[in-house]
Formats: sequence, C-alpha cells, structure tokens
Amino acid sequence: MTQTPAEHNENVSQAGGSNETLLADLRDIMASDLHAEDKLNDIVKLTANHLDVDVCSIYLMRSGDVLELFATVGLKQTAVHKTKLKMGEGLVGNVALHASPVNVENVDHNPNFVSHPETGEGAFKSLCAVPILREQKARGVLVIQSKQEVIYPQKTIELLQTVAMVLAEFAASGDLISRNELTLLSKPFKKPTQLNGQTFSGGLVMEQAVVHRAQASVKKLIADDKDKEKKRLKSAIAGVDAAIENLITSVDLKRHPEMVEIMESYQMFSKDKSWRTKIEDMIDQGLTADAAIQRAQNEIRHRFENIDTPVLQEKVQDFDDISNRLISTLNENDNKDEKHPDRFILVAKSLSPAALFDYGINKIKGIVLTGGSPSGHISIIAKSLGIPVMGQCRDASRYVRTGDQLILDTDNHVVYINPSDYVSDLYGARLEKQLKRQKHYRKFRDQPSVTKDGAHISLQMNAGLSAEIPLLHEAGGEGIGLFRTEISFMGRSRYPRVIEQAAFYKNIMDQTDGKPVTFRTVDIGGDKPLPYFKSPDEENPALGWRAMRIIMDRPAVLRTQTRALIMGAEGRPLRMMLPFVSDVSELDQAKKLIDMEFKRAKQRDIPLPEKFELGIMIEVPSLLWQLDEVFRRVNFAAVGTNDLKQYIFAADTRSGAMQGRYDSLSLSMLRALKQISAKARAHDIDVSVCGEMASKPLEAMVLIALGFKTLSMPAPALGQIKDTVISMDKGKAENYIDYLLKGGGSSLRKKLNSFAMDHKIKL
Ligand code: PEP
Ligand code: MG
Repeated sequence: MTQTPAEHNENVSQAGGSNETLLADLRDIMASDLHAEDKLNDIVKLTANHLDVDVCSIYLMRSGDVLELFATVGLKQTAVHKTKLKMGEGLVGNVALHASPVNVENVDHNPNFVSHPETGEGAFKSLCAVPILREQKARGVLVIQSKQEVIYPQKTIELLQTVAMVLAEFAASGDLISRNELTLLSKPFKKPTQLNGQTFSGGLVMEQAVVHRAQASVKKLIADDKDKEKKRLKSAIAGVDAAIENLITSVDLKRHPEMVEIMESYQMFSKDKSWRTKIEDMIDQGLTADAAIQRAQNEIRHRFENIDTPVLQEKVQDFDDISNRLISTLNENDNKDEKHPDRFILVAKSLSPAALFDYGINKIKGIVLTGGSPSGHISIIAKSLGIPVMGQCRDASRYVRTGDQLILDTDNHVVYINPSDYVSDLYGARLEKQLKRQKHYRKFRDQPSVTKDGAHISLQMNAGLSAEIPLLHEAGGEGIGLFRTEISFMGRSRYPRVIEQAAFYKNIMDQTDGKPVTFRTVDIGGDKPLPYFKSPDEENPALGWRAMRIIMDRPAVLRTQTRALIMGAEGRPLRMMLPFVSDVSELDQAKKLIDMEFKRAKQRDIPLPEKFELGIMIEVPSLLWQLDEVFRRVNFAAVGTNDLKQYIFAADTRSGAMQGRYDSLSLSMLRALKQISAKARAHDIDVSVCGEMASKPLEAMVLIALGFKTLSMPAPALGQIKDTVISMDKGKAENYIDYLLKGGGSSLRKKLNSFAMDHKIKL
C-alpha cells in the first residue's frame, strides 16, 4: 500500500531524530580519521537510518561520463564499484543528466527505469534520487529506495539535497577519485572549435575568455552555532546592500541613468522576506549561512529552470547573483583577488547587470551567453555600450575555459574556441581592416553627406538609452531618426510615472544639443514584453497584442507618454512617431488621444512644443494599400524594414531556420519600398528608413536610389554609410534600379553588387 507523505514524514522524524542531529552526525563522520570509502559507508547508513528507508546508495561520476556505485546500504555489497551507469541511463542516470531530482513510487512502471539485477534492487518499489551538484554540474547521485510504494515528501528531498551538498565537497576533495581523474571530469572529451548562437548585439571581437563563476564555493556546510550563523547572514546581507548602494552612486553607473533603475530593482531581492525566512529555517536545521544560501539558490534554479519566460529567468539570475555575492562576502571575498586581463570576452550561463560593473565595463569586449534573450537586461545594456553579445550559445559554458582564445563573430552567429592559425589570421586581418576603416571614417565625420551628383542624404542614428547619445556627436549623425522609447521601459521593475518619463525625454533632448530626435512611442508586446505589463498568452505574439493594438485598448499608455513628451520638450520642437500601425483608423484614434493631451497641456499652461510633427512607422504590409490616406494625415514617415520584411515574407528571418532565407534586396521588398517612396514624394512627405537595411552599404545604396533621403541606423554604421553616400551617383543608381525593377528574378543582390563594383561605390 502506498504511504502518504504525511505518514512517511511521521516515520522519518521518529526514526532518526531531527535534521540537526543528522547534520551533527554527518559532521562527526567527515571529521573522523576514517578512510574515505568508510566515511561514505557511514554516510549511507546514517541517511538510511535517519530517513527510515531500506536502501541508501551513492553513485559518483567517473571519467567518460559514467556513474559508479561507490557505497550502499540495502543493495548487494558485491555490486559496489561493479555497477556502472551511463549518463542518462535509467532513473539514476537521468538525475545526473538533467541535474534534477526524481521521486518515483512504482519504479517498474517508470519508462526510464533500467534494471540492474546484480544490485538486487528488484525488491524495492519506490526510489528518490537527487543529484550531487558542484558548480551546477552533477558529480554523482544520492539515492534512497523502499520496499513499500511511497511518494517521498518534499522534506525528505530537501534533506537528501543537504547530504548531497556535503557529498559534493567530499567528491571534489580528491580522496575518493584521484585529482587527475577529477581534472579529466571537468574537461570535455572533444572540444568543438566553433559554436553557434543568436546575435543579441552585433560586432566582431577576438580576445581571451573569462568564464564567469557560476556559483561561489561554500567551504563549510555544517554549523557549530546557529545564532552565530544568523548573525553572519545578517551582516553579509547588510554588506551586500551597502556594496550595491555604492555601485548605484558610483561614477560608472551615474553615466547610465536607466541602469540605476535596474540596480535598484535588483537590490530589492536581498530584502525578499520569504527568501530570507527560508535561509534562516535552513540555518535552524544546522546548515551554515553559506550552505543555507546555496541550498535556497539551487532550489530556485531548479524550480524555474524549465520555465522559459524571459522575465522569470532574469529574476532567477538576480537571485543567483545576490546569492553568490552573499556567499563571497561570507567567505571574505575569496574571489576578490581574481585577476582578469584588461580586455576579455565574458562567458556566462547567466549574468546580472551588477556583474558587468563588477568586472569593469571597459574591460568587457564581448559577451557569450548560453541562454538569454535579445530583450534581456544584459542585451539592452551591452547594445547601448556597443559590446557584441552572442546569446543562446548552448554549450559555451561546457566547452570554454578561462584563458581560451575566442573569436566572436555575430554577423555569422559563430564563436570560435582556440581557433586554428588559419582562422585566427583570417579574422586578425578582418579586424585590422575594420580598425583602419574606422580611422578612415572618423576623418570625414564632419564632411557633408552628399552624393557625387549633389543629393543630400541625412544620416541619422537609432538609439534607445541615454548612454548612447554621446555616440551621436562622436559619429557625426544629423539627429536621432529612431528613439526606441520602450527600451527604457523594459529595464524597469514598474511602469514609469509621467514625471519620470518626462525627465528622461528632457535629458535626451538636452544631450542632443538641438539635433532632431524622433521619439517613437512604446512598441511593447510581441518580442518586447514589459515585466510589469500583463500580456495575454498568445500562440503567436508577433501577430498579437502589440504597440498600437495595446494603445487602442489602453489609451492611457499613449496619453501619458504624450503628456511626458510635451513636458520633456519644454517648448522645444517635438517629433513623435507611432509604431506598428496596421490601419488608418488606428492612426486617427491615436491622433485624437494626442490632441486631447495637447488641449490638456494648454489648459494647464504647460508650454507647448514650438513645432510638433507626427509620424508613423510603415512596417505592416496592409499600409501599402493605404499610403494616400496615411500621407494625408502625417508630417513624416519611417519604414521599419525589419518588421516589413518579416511580414512580407511571413518569416522571422532574424533567427532559427529562417535566418538569411529571404533577401531584403528581392523584387518584392524593393517594389514595396519604391511604392512607399514614390507615394511619399507625391505627397511631399519625408520618409526615412530606420530598419537594419539602412546600416548595410549595398542596401543603403539601393535605398538612396529608391528615393529615400534619410537613413537612420546604429551609430557604429554611420561612418561606413557616409563613405557609400559620397562615393555614389544617385541618378545613375536610380536609373539602374528602375531598370531592374521592371525585370524578373527574385534576389537582385548579385546584379546590384556588380553595379556598385563597376561604379567604384564604397561598400
Ligand atoms: C523595424 O521594424 O525595422 C524597426 C526599426 O523597428 P524595431 O526593429 O524596433 O521593431
Ligand atoms: Mg518594427
């Protein structure tokens, strides 16, 4: 008959006394002079007795990813060192593979069960196993089994996890498995030379790797004095709080006001009551403060590891980071002396914004993440600082070691690990060329952006954070053609108030020194969720409740943002742009809301902008058949080629299997773009392009030839595009494109490339 968890709990507490006694007994075993294997034997006996179970066994990981039975009570002793399981084999092998516990009441019926008759395990019906984890990797498995069918309670699993923590340190000591073999264990057998990932922030870098320490090491697990441990915890929390406070007020962070908000929300984690109570409970059970923090850390990781929601993942990272900081503080900053090179690529499973500042932002030349998302905090910050980031590089933390030479090439979504001389030389030459080019571009920073035949092309910058604005002046942009306001919303823990938004917009305008800024109203939803703004669960968010659709249902979003923009402008000219409009009726509705805010400001004597211009983004294909109506209603427009391309081809060409599948220089895209620019000209409306196309030289040449007079792009691309502009003859390119558009074929890239070569246009 199956026992209930309550019944089992009852038995457990009757059998072996409190958890505190178990931990005290464990400490005695570990401190004894016994031989290492005898200590293991005593640990299995103690655990089985304490939990009142029939079997307790320890499997340890050996080289070759094999789990070997090292000690048991209840299984046949003859199986010790004979029974070996491959990683992923049977229930125990699966625990190691997924680094997470199993709790099974009827093992014979479990699809993962694989019988090992030599152990005599046939008599046991239920099994509970937890991984022996060190640095987030399974170094073994601790198993209990019972003859009765029983679902072991959470309390038992937690207890096993505590014993497993002790075993993890023991297994790493070199007393059970030789140091040589342990070194082998932490190394992969065959190191791949390249890994693929997703580009979160573009760029090319070649530097040595620094692998971010995933988990601070805990030196002492079992406490001598509970009260002392609680005091240690309290002072560590106070110390970490003070360190974050210092960081918030530091010069480094002051330069990045949006990041202060991120750090403040992060600081709240150390004040989380339930988390603190949990740690204190574990101290009461006999763990040191360090071990209790790590137990809570492992539990949170485990609970959320299969939940892919980016917002939750970020929270787990923050908890992780706070836990590591606390453990390091308790160990008097044992990694404080870690020296890092002056320039490096940081490799991490996950990373909190605070960690970036700890390493020193100026030293980090690239970031490789095993997970992450393009809209995560790290991606946003790195992008604004021009640091390339490759995310979803799944095996990076498994294969990369600190000191490895890395090449991070986001154009080709690849990371090379200790590349061959051939690859190094190739990239070395590319980097040298890149450097020379940048020097060359700097020379004509202040030169007008005019084609050979006299057409002025306004080159502007895309931005989203105040930290990016200095780049506008450094790169010589004529203005900000696209300011993505949602980025500052994404880094926050709550919806920003009107006065906060207004102060932010004012700061942007102050910094731009009179150069025009086009503020795009929030493009939220879809791939840009806000942590605090509940969106419906949608099967296909790219086609769902996003930007203008949200505003139609929640008019306050646009009204408050307009209010803040009017306030922030303080009478200066204001350009506002609406994203993701699918129908003119949405534009009409939005205009009404904006008008209301202008009236409201007038009534309250708030200075109105001396000039107000309203624009719209053309990025949903339905607008292509409403262009006359659109251009009659707006002062300007901008084509979002990223989304336009995605919806024209019905493919997200920026990631996965669709990456690179359809060409922007295809007949369908170019005809659509031509249609937009011709209609805009007929209505005398300035229409720009602010999607990725504008930042690529060949594409920029084509856009100019199609009649676009303003191109907006990330700051680093401005120099190269100016080189293209001043080396081309717009009239000649226009004639050639008109000729091509009359013909057939799909991609026109090859022909356009040959044209550029023949006419010595700099690409
Ligand atoms: C675009 O879609 O091209 C665009 C500029 O908007 P975003 O990339 O911010 O969606
Ligand atoms: Mg867009």
